[in-house]
Amino acid sequence: AIHVENLHKKFGDLHVLKGVSLSARDGDVIAIIGGSGSGKSTLLRCINCLENPTSGVVRVNGEEIRMKADSHGNTQPADRRQIERIRSRLGMVFQNFNLWSHMTLLENVIEVPVHVLGVKPEVATAEAEKLLARVGLAEKRDVYPAYLSGGQQQRGAIARALAIQPRVMLFDEPTSALDPELVGEVLKVIGDLAREGRTMVLVTHEMKFAREVATHVVYLYNGVVEEEGPPDAIFNAPRSERLKQFIRNIG
Ligand code: ATP
Ligand code: MG
Repeated sequence: AIHVENLHKKFGDLHVLKGVSLSARDGDVIAIIGGSGSGKSTLLRCINCLENPTSGVVRVNGEEIRMKADSHGNTQPADRRQIERIRSRLGMVFQNFNLWSHMTLLENVIEVPVHVLGVKPEVATAEAEKLLARVGLAEKRDVYPAYLSGGQQQRGAIARALAIQPRVMLFDEPTSALDPELVGEVLKVIGDLAREGRTMVLVTHEMKFAREVATHVVYLYNGVVEEEGPPDAIFNAPRSERLKQFIRNIG
């Protein structure tokens, strides 16, 4: 589960997140939508401890990320080990292909389980083969990322994220860098995970997909949650003028 409360993030003078609250209980699929620069990636990066919130609460699987201010007044994690622990239960897939180019697909998938989590290589390999089969890449296990299509790389990245047995999956526009004909195969894999009841927070520009899989949609505008609700309400009966216009423009 994820719980974010009154989160602020500033980059110098730029106030990017202005009091964002959001929660994902187990089994929730939260879709975050909003225009470019509205703070969607920054929000995900604060959840995954890739950015340090300026203030506010971020709780991941019941554990609140503890921050401290350094001598310049910037926040930083109070406990590095806590950050590692929290990250080890989060699967993250970004917009740009995330696979390590010097490793085969199988090596990519078993890397963290074997070298960070201490899983035996045979066990991790058997698990990785199952995951690769699930995302339709069983035959590609010994191939390097450069020889995979964008859609295959993204499905491989999903398999790799699943290999740590995350309690929550975070997706940041996982299909927006793909050629249009490759988008469907990746959305299919993510949709299957959502329908299985996996907890996820997903930033997406794919409105049709968000409408289908999300249990809750959050519309971010200029660092503020402008409107949120079930997909039906957000897409069929938006109240905010900004959201109406956003849906018109993107749809
Ligand atoms: P997009 O849809 O284009 O991905 P977004 O909603 O994900 O946009 P963010 O990437 O969160 O937007 O960026 C929000 C704002 O914060 C932007 O103005 C961006 O320039 C700024 N920003 C993001 N990261 C940094 C950083 N590390 N340093 C300074 N400014 C940043
Ligand atoms: Mg972004």
